[in-house]
Amino acid sequence: MKASVGGYARATDLQHAITLLEAADGMARVLAGGQSLVAAMNMRLSTGDLLVDISRLSELRGVTDEGDTIRIGALTRHVDVEGNALVRDHAPLLADAVKVIAHAAIRNRGTIGGALALADPAAEFPACVLALGATLHVMGSDGERTIAVEDFFQGLFETELEPEEILTAISIPKAEMGERQVLQEVTRRSGDYALAGLCLVKRQGGHRVTMLSVGEQPELATDAMAKLDDGDIEGAIVSLRAEIDPPSDTKASAKYRRHIAGVLLRRAVDQVTGDAR
Ligand SMILES: Cc1cc2nc3c(=O)[nH]c(=O)nc-3n(C[C@H](O)[C@H](O)[C@H](O)COP(=O)(O)OP(=O)(O)OC[C@H]3O[C@@H](n4cnc5c(N)ncnc54)[C@H](O)[C@@H]3O)c2cc1C
Repeated sequence: MKASVGGYARATDLQHAITLLEAADGMARVLAGGQSLVAAMNMRLSTGDLLVDISRLSELRGVTDEGDTIRIGALTRHVDVEGNALVRDHAPLLADAVKVIAHAAIRNRGTIGGALALADPAAEFPACVLALGATLHVMGSDGERTIAVEDFFQGLFETELEPEEILTAISIPKAEMGERQVLQEVTRRSGDYALAGLCLVKRQGGHRVTMLSVGEQPELATDAMAKLDDGDIEGAIVSLRAEIDPPSDTKASAKYRRHIAGVLLRRAVDQVTGDAR
């Protein structure tokens, strides 16, 4: 099937992109790496919109050291997130995540901003940035605003972004001395979306646990986190299975995903404590 497009415009800078989006009055889509959007257009899940191509805006690309945080430009490709020394040193969870995202061709074009703006509940980056406590930087016609990641994901493929806004960057707090960041997931085949996945971040201030593919959006598993903070691993597993609401689909039942959630938490804790089973 051929894609249905309502026009194409290549933005020359960020302000131009915002002007184009605003003029389209809700009938435009930002085009970044195109790995999800073009597939959706080919399937006619997205039709008739003006495509505002931001892919050449170099100011939205790359990783910078900002003191207590690193700032990752929204157009930084998955492959560049994985290979970046600042990411590997200060947010290794993101570099580890790239290894299990899709295939090389998709990782070479897909961008971290695209993955977050899309808010696919089966994607790795949304769950990772929530576990890391990121801040998202957004630009629109009213200027720049920042959104705490806890407020960014609003449901199935839904975020806080307004139609004329562009996600410009993501700030991640640098890992503390001794901090551990772990991603565990189960997939049928290498490169597939995970049947279920779990991020665990252990800091001095406590644990942060998020999951992917077990609900409409990534959420902090607060009951399980509190149990882990108390050192009660068995209690954390019970709590995690109780607080998620996984779907049943052709790939896995809700019951299986709930079971896997507990298994993944145990594996993640073992990995963090070095007691790998
Ligand atoms: C076969 C296949 C397998 C995949 N497997 C995985 C996987 O295992 N794990 C995983 O996490 N992902 C997977 N993906 C998704 C992939 O990682 C995408 O690249 C990513 O989700 C979207 O990034 P993009 O830059 O290509 O965004 P695009 O496709 O260009 O855009 C996606 C959406 O985000 C919006 N958008 C993009 N950038 C911005 C921005 N800066 N500001 C505002 N809105 C924006 C677009 O308008 C669009 O709605 C897979 C994709 C395919 C096609």
